[in-house]
Amino acid sequence: MFAEFDLVMPGDLDEALDILAEASGDGDGDAGILPLAGGTNLVVDLRARRIRADKLVGLGRIAALRGIERSNGRVTIGAGTTLSDILRDPGMAEAAPSLVDSARVFAGQMVRNTATVAGNVCCGSPAADTVPPLLSLDAELTLAGRGGSRVVPLADFFLGYQENERRPGELVTGISWDAPKPNAANLFYKLARRKGDAITVVGVAVTVAVEAGKCTTARIALGAVAPVVKRAREAEALLEGEALTPELIEAAARQAVEDSSPIDDVRASADYRRHSVHALTRRLLSQAWAQVTEGG
Ligand SMILES: Cc1cc2nc3c(=O)[nH]c(=O)nc-3n(C[C@H](O)[C@H](O)[C@H](O)COP(=O)(O)OP(=O)(O)OC[C@H]3O[C@@H](n4cnc5c(N)ncnc54)[C@H](O)[C@@H]3O)c2cc1C
Repeated sequence: MFAEFDLVMPGDLDEALDILAEASGDGDGDAGILPLAGGTNLVVDLRARRIRADKLVGLGRIAALRGIERSNGRVTIGAGTTLSDILRDPGMAEAAPSLVDSARVFAGQMVRNTATVAGNVCCGSPAADTVPPLLSLDAELTLAGRGGSRVVPLADFFLGYQENERRPGELVTGISWDAPKPNAANLFYKLARRKGDAITVVGVAVTVAVEAGKCTTARIALGAVAPVVKRAREAEALLEGEALTPELIEAAARQAVEDSSPIDDVRASADYRRHSVHALTRRLLSQAWAQVTEGG
């Protein structure tokens, strides 16, 4: 059962940041103050006593954190945006195809209705399903504290297993990225032991853009095969500036395996994960290249 904690539900962002500042050392120094979004990670962890908190700051009443905006090809989702919001938004299939792919296979309907994308990013799981898609889109996080806000590329956010760039007292307020251009393809695949409600064994997201028959941008993001979700940068580097032949795609898929460091656990062996990184990277790069060169 739960240890005791206080739940506060601020009505606006400033109020939330004032309360969270108590955790940042410029208040009473109480570090046990945590933001609460959908609660689908945090409440489970509190119940299992993996995490202790004296105070939870519920974000559910802060209207400014809800909503999806598009302006000049830039997409911004507020921190309160749920997985169901992503699936309901008719423009999202173009604005973030891989994120929609991940939302479709995320948990079950009840969890999708309350789980937020920002909560998924902040929980720090290497298997968090929205993170490979967001990395493949070069997403950026806006972090706000009482002293102002700052923008951090998602690629720089994760410092190690369940460690990130967020300072005590800060909230992620939004996540932004440029919608893929018509010359780009953006795909995600989640391999798990079941189609729904299953923790990811391996997740791969790719973006491939083409100009004059050459790949101008390559992004390969790998989930559940390292302490953090990460880009396979050396594999990406093999592709940029080149036409993606089957041989080059095969080389990049092999390099992606080198860029990963999976472990054995109850869901799969490290060997199986390496095999899956290779197979999924090759498959998604082939599909993406066909999409941008043949419209397939
Ligand atoms: C049955 C079940 C199935 C699940 N299936 C999946 C799945 O398929 N794929 C997957 O990736 N995950 C899955 N999860 C895990 C969970 O649903 C997700 O990680 C979810 O996105 C977390 O979001 P939340 O809004 O519930 O976050 P919360 O649980 O409220 O918070 C998670 C963490 O993020 C912090 N946080 C939340 N919002 C902010 C913010 N704006 N700024 C700073 N910190 C913040 C909290 O303090 C906490 O540390 C599942 C969970 C359950 C219970």
